[in-house]
Amino acid sequence: MKIILLGAPGSGKGTIAKRISQDYSIPQISTGDLFRAIVKEENEFARKIKEILASGSLVPDEITIKMLKDRIEKEDCKNGYILDGFPRSIPQAEALKKIAQIDTVLLVDLPFDTIIERLSSRRTCPNCSEIYSTAKYAGDTCLKCGHKIIQRDDDKPEAIKHRLEVYEKTTAPLINFYSDRLFKVSNDREIDETYRSVKAFLDKAGEE
Ligand code: AMP
Repeated sequence: MKIILLGAPGSGKGTIAKRISQDYSIPQISTGDLFRAIVKEENEFARKIKEILASGSLVPDEITIKMLKDRIEKEDCKNGYILDGFPRSIPQAEALKKIAQIDTVLLVDLPFDTIIERLSSRRTCPNCSEIYSTAKYAGDTCLKCGHKIIQRDDDKPEAIKHRLEVYEKTTAPLINFYSDRLFKVSNDREIDETYRSVKAFLDKAGEE
């Protein structure tokens, strides 16, 4: 099964992608995580990517598409994958069409004011990408790996605003692009409940 997860930054798509990955034994490919791994390197390219990420803008297509293509050609992608954060624009979707046959597109929906609230309180483990909310967890170390958790630069107020603008302008048009295979799920509730709807949909799609 090849799945795209669409949704604004902070909509909860990363968490849903992780659960799908575990339940269906297919890799979660988060272009954001791939870029954050690059940023840890010490070179000019890494510094350029770091600057783009911190601002909340998109990394140029030629870099992003090549990185994605290399990733989905790996052995573990043979039986499918979940794309989390790609494509993010119509040109990226057009490029993807040439290299992969996507079965399903899930749109995770959440009002922008809830997103702003969630992103502002989000903390991330830079080591294993586990996500926490200051509303639910007051500690400063990752419960999974023990690393110190941080607030991502792009989860700071100015960057959040810019990321949502970029989403609205560049990524939201993909909802129409994929209208023939789109399943929309609202995440304005407990994540377990949202995921139950997603799983019911995927199980049914798998039977067809
Ligand atoms: P995310 O973790 O998905 O919110 O991604 C974090 C950042 O990585 C984004 O704000 C972009 O700067 C960059 N990024 C991730 N995916 C893409 C993509 N498909 N195209 C361009 N830039 C991306």
